[in-house]
Amino acid sequence: MPGYEPFLLCDFHVHTQWSDGRLTVAEVVDLYGATGKFDVIAITDHILMKKDLLARAGRIATLGRRAYGVRQEHFEAYLEDIEMQGKRALKQYGMLVIPGAEVTQNRLRGRKNSHIIALGITDYISADQTADEILRAIRRQGALSIACHPHHRTTRRIEISTCYLWDNRKELAPLVDVWEAANRDDLFSVTSLKHYPYVANSDFHKAKHLYSWKTLLRCEKQWPAIADALRKNVDVALTLYRNGSWAA
Ligand code: ZN
Ligand code: ZN
Repeated sequence: MPGYEPFLLCDFHVHTQWSDGRLTVAEVVDLYGATGKFDVIAITDHILMKKDLLARAGRIATLGRRAYGVRQEHFEAYLEDIEMQGKRALKQYGMLVIPGAEVTQNRLRGRKNSHIIALGITDYISADQTADEILRAIRRQGALSIACHPHHRTTRRIEISTCYLWDNRKELAPLVDVWEAANRDDLFSVTSLKHYPYVANSDFHKAKHLYSWKTLLRCEKQWPAIADALRKNVDVALTLYRNGSWAA
């Protein structure tokens, strides 16, 4: 479509074995890279609260083999892994990898839960503070915040609602850079109806999640330009990346 090229195909919400994802950062890079379609991905592993009951139950179930969250003492190694694989991704696939984290609150029966992605993160951010404080910490680093699945309400007993930011958008919207209007297979139409800046992501945990909602952005393939394009949210589109999408 003349005038519509060139758009970048982006996924800003990907988990790896550093938290509860199945693949390593290297494997994620190869999975997305081998499609020959992706321009930008962000690695956004969970940072959990100290008392995350779901993670504790999971660690017991897997005899401590899985991590579920990046701990503060491992955060530097986490960023180094992303940087190293990011260099390879750019060279091998022309794909930019952005460091991020999903600051995650899973209080059972909590009404103040939010999952907030910090994109372009440089320093650890604790999940044991209010959403407001997390958003301010992201701003202080010059990183970009995404309100993840902001309209997700509990449907099953063990699930967690993450609607705090959305329910308090009047006060908190000035601190939120982008709202995740689509997450994996779900579309949160209420978010886009409010005309907030929006983004669509896979919330990738395993290989089949490659086929899910993604974002198209029109800007240069560099983090400052991407951050600017996300904030301005002018040339942006949601797209469903399916098996066989744009097959050559
Ligand atoms: Zn989440
Ligand atoms: Zn996630």
